[in-house]
Amino acid sequence: MTVEELICYGKQHVHSSYANILLAETINKNVLELLNYLDYEVPEKEEKKYKKAVTAIEKGEPLQYALGYVNFYGNRFIVNKNVLIPRFETEELVENTIKYTNEYFKNESIDIIDLGCGSGAIGLTLEKKLPLSKVDMIDIDEKALSVAKENAKNLNSNANLFLSDMWANVNKKYDIIISNPPYIKTMEEIEEIVKNNEPAIALFAGIDGLDCYKKIFENIKDHMKDKCLIALEIGMTQKEDIINIVKETLGEVKIETKKDLSEKDRMIFIFKNIE
Ligand code: GLN
Repeated sequence: MTVEELICYGKQHVHSSYANILLAETINKNVLELLNYLDYEVPEKEEKKYKKAVTAIEKGEPLQYALGYVNFYGNRFIVNKNVLIPRFETEELVENTIKYTNEYFKNESIDIIDLGCGSGAIGLTLEKKLPLSKVDMIDIDEKALSVAKENAKNLNSNANLFLSDMWANVNKKYDIIISNPPYIKTMEEIEEIVKNNEPAIALFAGIDGLDCYKKIFENIKDHMKDKCLIALEIGMTQKEDIINIVKETLGEVKIETKKDLSEKDRMIFIFKNIE
């Protein structure tokens, strides 16, 4: 079928903007260029791939899973139903962490760990942007870890990725500990498209959504260097609870919370022996 015929086909099943994006992606063109290729005969293999993506959207899958990738902080990451789709808020977590690292760990070789790495977006981005860093990344889920490993390979990463339930298989100390753990409350109402498609294991964390933070802080002292930055993404109602967990574990430390672009409390940064 031609580009024009496939656009028509797509529009019968999904919104035309989805049809255009999926087709442009499948034949490796920019959406704006499609009009120049209306008579182009799309090879059978690409046609199949396109129709499969159209069906996925029609069934209610997120665009990122149908495309099979997402752009995060300038790099392309493979995503599928085994990993959470990286969010804009998480780019903000990464951006602030890069800023603090350049400020407080200037010209230092640093060890970083990304706890619950999922697709690997956080850890792999930090490794690329912080050339003096050595990055470890763990996830509890084997399927998620294999997506992260694929992304690591595509980005020529030297990061060390391994299976671990939080600190269980980790035996090092770090300068920077970063995590976007699951933080949604078991009974919390979330968008249908998220609930129906993204992995529950990456979203939900007990009645109060705090299970993973409790687990992180349970053994965190064994894994912090004397000077250490902890950077966490948090749910918008969890700031006070998490500050309490931090204080119970680490005593008086410098804590900074930040809102995301939608003005929701979204990040917490903990500075140990960093002035
Ligand atoms: N921010 C994600 C959402 O809105 C949740 C991610 C998480 O639990 N870490 O769905």
